Amino acid sequence: MNDPLAKPRESCGVVGAWGPATPALRTMMISLQHRGQQSAGIAACHDTGIVCRTGSGRVTEVFPDARPRVLRDAHGAVGHVRYATSGADGPEDGSAQPILLDGWADPVCLAHNGTLVNTGPARAKLGIPAGATDTAVLGRLLTAAMEQRGVTLSDALHTVLPRITGAYSLVLTDGRRLYGVRDPQAFRPLCLGRLDDTWLLASESAAVAAVGGTFVRELEAGEVVEIGAAGFRSSRLDVPGARRASCLFEHVYFARADSRIDGRSVYEARYAAGRALVRHAPPPPGADVVVAVPDTARVAADGYAWQAGLPSVQGLLRHEGVGRSFITAAPAGRAAAVRQKLSVVPAAVEGRSVVLVDDSLVRGTTMTAVVAMLREAGVRAVHLRIASPPHRWPCFYGIDTGRGDALVGARVAPDRLAAHLGCDSAGFLPLDALLGAVGGATDSYCTACLDGRFPTAVEFPDGALLQRQP
Ligand code: SF4
Repeated sequence: MNDPLAKPRESCGVVGAWGPATPALRTMMISLQHRGQQSAGIAACHDTGIVCRTGSGRVTEVFPDARPRVLRDAHGAVGHVRYATSGADGPEDGSAQPILLDGWADPVCLAHNGTLVNTGPARAKLGIPAGATDTAVLGRLLTAAMEQRGVTLSDALHTVLPRITGAYSLVLTDGRRLYGVRDPQAFRPLCLGRLDDTWLLASESAAVAAVGGTFVRELEAGEVVEIGAAGFRSSRLDVPGARRASCLFEHVYFARADSRIDGRSVYEARYAAGRALVRHAPPPPGADVVVAVPDTARVAADGYAWQAGLPSVQGLLRHEGVGRSFITAAPAGRAAAVRQKLSVVPAAVEGRSVVLVDDSLVRGTTMTAVVAMLREAGVRAVHLRIASPPHRWPCFYGIDTGRGDALVGARVAPDRLAAHLGCDSAGFLPLDALLGAVGGATDSYCTACLDGRFPTAVEFPDGALLQRQP
């Protein structure tokens, strides 16, 4: 395994609850279903111990009962929804989460969102197979740290995590306390909420809102929070010099539009990106309508239409029950999934010159299929506008955008992209304009997949090292 992209990567949804409203956890998981549909799991804390249940599929398939037995009378719980990337795809191979850590005096359950980039030495030292997830490696490291008498889970987190590099938002429980951890770069989101006397942790604020809770705040970069009978405690991992680098792609595509991430409304960021796109890639003369690629591009398309003074029409319909084609692993499967997932509304677009707005251009598979479908429906012209720059580098921090040679922006010169995708013109939002739309400090985001500026070193299993780009 000479390629860090060949190992299973995890960009998922994690949740936690501590208090009388713990059964609300299942609803929180459903609200994060867009972050992963391949498996779901709950570890619930009862007076008699921790019970962990995982299964393949969506939350409603794994836990069909609105009040699942595992959550009844639980005083705390950890939940996880997972999307399978290369390597592993379900609970049968041990990759579903939460995972129960073996060898503790008290059992511990761990749910992890993200991917680590320097686990090679730990895998070799502990004899962990190449196909095992980073979460399993992390679990083994924590277990080893706890073997010394008197070392608490909090101690183990503060000892082990500063030696780990990469993306990790964690929710853990030892049955007596609930822990939340965000890595020192804050790659993946994690926030804190309250529902009366119950503390909540969630990858996105939309999960807190889904149960009627109150958003408290996001965890800071490198923060560890501990919630238990003694109340709430916050501490920091000791990682000097770490640069904050939260994932820009969460704002562009991954997160829900009704979430807040990095102190910003995802909706506002996408709308502003759509408006800015008009300034950098205006509609051509004679354009009739704006059409969004549903669903994540809808907000950017609304911003584009408003700024351009064009009507926004629902020229493409998205059908429920089909997962994100982005998450579907094989290229042929993705192309087929697009035709299952989307259909054209001929009455909205036939004979018209369409400005087609999408949030991002990754492999190009979806876009090629969508443009072909619009042409088959009798569209006069298709002018593609993308509310971010094309992806040109792989992500090592958990988002499965594919290897460099799978990314159409890396393979095809910018002036040939329109012809390659089958459209009449193509325009993109430059990175500085995207950062301006998202807001906040421009150097506080990871932009590696767009500009090759990796915020950490990335270690390859054969010893090669991709240096951090300052
Ligand atoms: S490389 Fe791209 S997708 Fe990966 S964490 Fe950075 S911004 Fe997000």
